[in-house]
Amino acid sequence: MKLFIDGETQTGSTTEWVINPSTGEKLQEVSLASTEQVDQAVRAARKAFPGWADTSPADRARALLKLADRLDDHAAELADLEAKNVGKPKFLADFEIPFIADNLRFFAGAARCLEGRSAGEYTAGRTSWIRREPIGVVAQIAPWNYPLMMAGWKIGPALAAGNTVVLKPSELTPLTTLRLAELAADLFPAGVFNVVNGYGATVGAALCQHPEVDMVSLTGDVGTGKEVARAASQGLKRVHLELGGKAPVIIYDDADLDLVVETVKFAGYMNTGQDCTAACRIYAQAGIHDKLVERLQAAINSMVVGEPNLEGCEMGPMISARQRDRVQGFLDRARASSKHLGFITGGQKINGKGFFLPPTVVTGARNDDEMVQREVFGPVITVTRFHDEAQALEWANGVDYGLSSSVWTRDLDKAMRATKHLHFGCVWVNDHGTLVSEMPHGGFKQSGYGKDMSSYALDDYTDAKHVMVRLAALS
Ligand code: NAD
Repeated sequence: MKLFIDGETQTGSTTEWVINPSTGEKLQEVSLASTEQVDQAVRAARKAFPGWADTSPADRARALLKLADRLDDHAAELADLEAKNVGKPKFLADFEIPFIADNLRFFAGAARCLEGRSAGEYTAGRTSWIRREPIGVVAQIAPWNYPLMMAGWKIGPALAAGNTVVLKPSELTPLTTLRLAELAADLFPAGVFNVVNGYGATVGAALCQHPEVDMVSLTGDVGTGKEVARAASQGLKRVHLELGGKAPVIIYDDADLDLVVETVKFAGYMNTGQDCTAACRIYAQAGIHDKLVERLQAAINSMVVGEPNLEGCEMGPMISARQRDRVQGFLDRARASSKHLGFITGGQKINGKGFFLPPTVVTGARNDDEMVQREVFGPVITVTRFHDEAQALEWANGVDYGLSSSVWTRDLDKAMRATKHLHFGCVWVNDHGTLVSEMPHGGFKQSGYGKDMSSYALDDYTDAKHVMVRLAALS
């Protein structure tokens, strides 16, 4: 599969095989961009910018609506490709494609509702108003866990606002993004939407450093976010960062246990736990703790783990041998050094060469344990017992991350206090992981800054310009 630069597909300077994580075997040969091709893509985006910024919101909306329709028309093919490349269960990929299309349709509509919040006479003889201007050329760098969804979340607001884009998928999962470029080829003027595939250290870094890039948007690891922000600071580029998470799940004694177990089983192990919002850090009140652990054990034992098309598959492999070994490393260190921890592992027998790990619950976790403090990004949930509300909230907030959180109780007062005190970009009450195109997704603290989805994303991809007119000087 090829790159997409200046309205045309292009072979990369080299090629590489993308690996199927369910088998460890070669899946698809793809092009990798050279630094010259990155430069060519950025220059094409620069050249296309004035024309695209000048189109009417209705025209931009029409292009995005057509793109959403193309996704619907190719949903089965895209879901199949995504499931194979990421190793995610087919039902999950099937769910994602319509959600991405919905997101593009939201931004098609939102493009036509961009507004300045102030207009009027704020001093004698002058009238002011706000124009919302696109930023310019935006480099967008996506992760491997939700490749097409992250591509959609990025290009929707950027293109709707009149920016031009150079998008880099993760080198591990470029297939659906390269296919998206093919599907979009006739929908945007040449140069408006470009896709360059390659490694972070080469293609990603070249994008962040390019003098003609005005903004960099990254979804990725916290460490990568810091590197990207450092590189972008040389040109004082605008930076938009959606980084890691370590979501706390506070479960009070009065919670609906059936609902908790069903939701945590899904939101904790969805995408093999490779999810920035994963329900991975449970704080269970003393009265419900033991019942919860027992129920979670039964839940993970019954999980169907395997390749995406396996009948009833609920969880696939890790994305790579490296990620599997990284998660195994967390578990090995915890087993070796932390006598207070208990380990419950699903009973699945997984054969073959794929990068599989069984679902795991780690009990007796303390807030300063490595596994509680750091993003494991695998099928591992920790459970910590708490006694009172203040302790739960303090522990929940006591990490570097601030992306998402949830609280489970039937007591409205307790729930409302948690929504105020939990320092995260999202707080769910009696739910975990549900997202909608109309509401923002983005982190506090080291989970980054900037929002995906919703009209708040349009704020990030535009600049507010104050126009002031001295009326007396006009004839
Ligand atoms: P990663 O940071 O390794 O890679 C993300 C992207 O950055 C890839 O395309 C990679 O090639 C690129 N990259 C790496 N180094 C770079 C550099 N120096 N300069 C420019 N680009 C560079 O992340 P990942 O492992 O692909 O994804 C997992 C991470 O993403 C997790 O931490 C997860 O929490 C986070 N994530 C966050 C959200 C969110 O919305 N907050 C959503 C999905 C994933």
